[in-house]
Amino acid sequence: MVAKKKRPQIHDKYVVSGGNLTRKNKTCPKCGAAVFLANHKDRWICGKCGYMEKK
Ligand SMILES: [Zn+2]
Repeated sequence: MVAKKKRPQIHDKYVVSGGNLTRKNKTCPKCGAAVFLANHKDRWICGKCGYMEKK
């Protein structure tokens, strides 16, 4: 008999908020949900307002 493998948990890459599945890309808290932050090596940067968030 082969034991069923548990699926690896993938939600470390996703954030569930309000029932919506949000992708890895962050959105800018200043510009709103329509503006995504650019994914840099160790930080997120908003190209619009310059907002920066460390990873
Ligand atoms: Zn912004």
